[in-house]
Amino acid sequence: MDNNLELLAELVKVDSGTGDSEGMLGIARILSGRLQKMQMALQAMEAADGSVHFFASRGKGNRVLLIAHIDTVFAKGTVAKRGFDIEGDTARGPGVSDCKSGVVTIIRALEHLNSLDAWPDWEIGCLFNSDEEIGSPGSRPIIEKLANESQAVLVVEPAEGENITISRKGIGRFDLQVFGKAAHSGSNYQDGHNAILELAHKIIAIQELTDFDAGITLNVGVVGGGLRPNIVPDYAEAEIDLRIIEAGQEEKALADLNRITASNKVNGVAAKISGGITRPPMPFCERNDALYRKYRDVALSMGFQVGVHSSGGGSDANFTAALGIPTIDGVGPVGGGHHSEAEYLSIPSLQNRIMILGEFLKHIDTLDLVR
Ligand SMILES: [Zn+2]
Repeated sequence: MDNNLELLAELVKVDSGTGDSEGMLGIARILSGRLQKMQMALQAMEAADGSVHFFASRGKGNRVLLIAHIDTVFAKGTVAKRGFDIEGDTARGPGVSDCKSGVVTIIRALEHLNSLDAWPDWEIGCLFNSDEEIGSPGSRPIIEKLANESQAVLVVEPAEGENITISRKGIGRFDLQVFGKAAHSGSNYQDGHNAILELAHKIIAIQELTDFDAGITLNVGVVGGGLRPNIVPDYAEAEIDLRIIEAGQEEKALADLNRITASNKVNGVAAKISGGITRPPMPFCERNDALYRKYRDVALSMGFQVGVHSSGGGSDANFTAALGIPTIDGVGPVGGGHHSEAEYLSIPSLQNRIMILGEFLKHIDTLDLVR
């Protein structure tokens, strides 16, 4: 195993599901040793909600911020069941691509710079956050503060194909609750107010808000309610996912959801909705495109092709792009099957992405990126 895969194996073999503070410390210990050798101290940053994230930096002046998350969606014990293995050009294991390969990409690119004694005349800051998989509730203010002090942000999430992500959908999450009145379905059916029936009307109305042309989708993905078939149900609930592509679209969607919540078709029921936008949209913009083109030119000069990609998912890039900081994402290697047992990483792309990032950082002080 080469040095890239050795580090990847070490990281994958630590269970680090969101909230597993022991796992996060295990990862931090591995990174800390490597970073120290490059005169980079790993600093623990505690968020308001108690979650702990790690930041390391070296250099002065303009800053480029690199972000990769160290949490995974997998529960403790998953590593013992699935392990880490390599077959040909493919590596497998929990978090092997999302996002431990991104962490390896950052560390190995920095080690490359360090070994060449080619550190640019900029500060390179690296944030390893530990709550991305639940929407970064704790790390968001830390990310936003660091990004505001930076000239450019590179989010080192896995790539989709050989592409760099320059736009992402915004995400909203909502819980809808409907309250009715229970009654015996045989003896006093008419005394009941059926919460499930009301929810059914609401689900259809919510799904119909989807407007593909405008890039707005609503998905009622989880429903629950009722106790037994012979009881008119007094309670029903649904979880809703909203996706938007531009700032401003949330107002109309929120107004529509509130209208549907307030207007009932079934007599005697009441409904309540909670939730909101969890990641603002990252629409196509000149700033991100210009940063992408600088990265692409470096890749091309090394003989690597990269293209652009627009993602339906969200990441920490949504936060930094919404602040107007030039941001690109998908700077990590190619992988797939994320959040499932099918997760894999393309090993050749790991080496390529490390080389491109190293070269990009080496020249960052000459790329005319100052905002
Ligand atoms: Zn990820």
